[in-house]
Amino acid sequence: MYQYKRSSELFTEANKYIPGGVNSPVRAFNSVGGTPVFIKKAKGSILTDVDGNEYIDYISSWGPMILGHAYPKVIDAIKAKVEDSTSFGAPTELEIDIAKLIVDMVPNIDKVRMVNSGTEACMSAIRVARGYTGRNKFIKFEGCYHGHADSFLIKAGSGASTFGVPNSPGVTPGTANDTLTAKYNNIEEVKQLVTENKGEIAAIIVEAIAGNMGCVLPKKGFLEDLRELCDKEEILLIFDEVMSGFRLGKGGAQEYFGVKADLITFGKVIGGGMPVGAYAGSSKIMDIVSPVGPVYQAGTLSGNPIAMIAGYTLLKELNQNPQIYTELADKTEYLHKGLDKVFTESGFDYKINRCGSMISIFFTDIDVVDFDTAATANNEKFPKFFHEMLKRGIYLPPSSFESYFLSNSLTYEMLDKTIQAAKESLEAMK
Ligand code: PMP
Repeated sequence: MYQYKRSSELFTEANKYIPGGVNSPVRAFNSVGGTPVFIKKAKGSILTDVDGNEYIDYISSWGPMILGHAYPKVIDAIKAKVEDSTSFGAPTELEIDIAKLIVDMVPNIDKVRMVNSGTEACMSAIRVARGYTGRNKFIKFEGCYHGHADSFLIKAGSGASTFGVPNSPGVTPGTANDTLTAKYNNIEEVKQLVTENKGEIAAIIVEAIAGNMGCVLPKKGFLEDLRELCDKEEILLIFDEVMSGFRLGKGGAQEYFGVKADLITFGKVIGGGMPVGAYAGSSKIMDIVSPVGPVYQAGTLSGNPIAMIAGYTLLKELNQNPQIYTELADKTEYLHKGLDKVFTESGFDYKINRCGSMISIFFTDIDVVDFDTAATANNEKFPKFFHEMLKRGIYLPPSSFESYFLSNSLTYEMLDKTIQAAKESLEAMK
């Protein structure tokens, strides 16, 4: 029987010194209730909390642990590197190695600039697009999340939706006016915005596969239509690949869907779990960035050696072993089939969306194609399911607006255990 005594004590203590007891909102379990589990360590796909409970992990640190926690090559590389100091604030050879590797793996990019988070990557990409086009406005999609920079907190997904503040106080009306929003998968709305704001739109930013309203796939033709529209109107198309980058495949969403983006943003995976983000594009666009060009963007810890060696080691592993992606997709499909079976037998309304190694279960009978349809699944069933699964040692994202991220360290035995736990959880919910 799982008990959370130490987690409870720590949460009480944490609340005294940290807002809500956490450093990122969704972790507080607000939308599912109960005490957040404080993690002590993890190996492969197994998380161990401070009370000694073990869980099969479906968050994978929200993406980066694509080969599992404490992946030996990554840990060894970090250990070796850390002896040479943790930061210089000066260029290193390793930054060239990782930039070259990323340029080699990802289509349509010549240059990459490292930053420290996905937020920074997206914020900088928008600035570059504005500087490049000389236009101020951009379009984002309802329920997509691009980090917590002011201009993105307009109808934002992820924690912002979970907490019911998709439009955050603190964002000035001036900033909000330059962010236009359309429904995901609705090209007509995008076209209308472009017509109404002719010549004023610098960029369209999109999660090519959305993971921040649960996993939502682009409808056939949606990304292609965005590309065509951007070409016609000289708008830059930005793929936010903070989740999909190096996860859908080594070339990310561009390769997976066969659609070219002008700028790509990365996070998470390229740091192998260290705080890293990056943005990338053609030389023509990227050379507008300081110190070559006038668009200013900087970072004391950007290209940090420990973060770079972790990312470089992980990316090299993915690059050299492309079968990882087939294995991951097979495992995710196996989980999907197993869940389909137990959910159908349970009689609960449900929809499952899956793409590569991202998957979400929605407690709804409506096809989930955008934020409004995803929101129909944000009901009382989700928290119950979450806690029943947690009790059975399955650690799911604690919000119905988040995707699961599978890691290749998951074994088929673990997947079977998860499917069995889902069966029991659904029984217990009746
Ligand atoms: N873009 C996407 C698609 C994301 O999923 C996230 C984080 N979940 C971000 C941007 C922001 O990244 P970070 O939390 O590293 O700032």
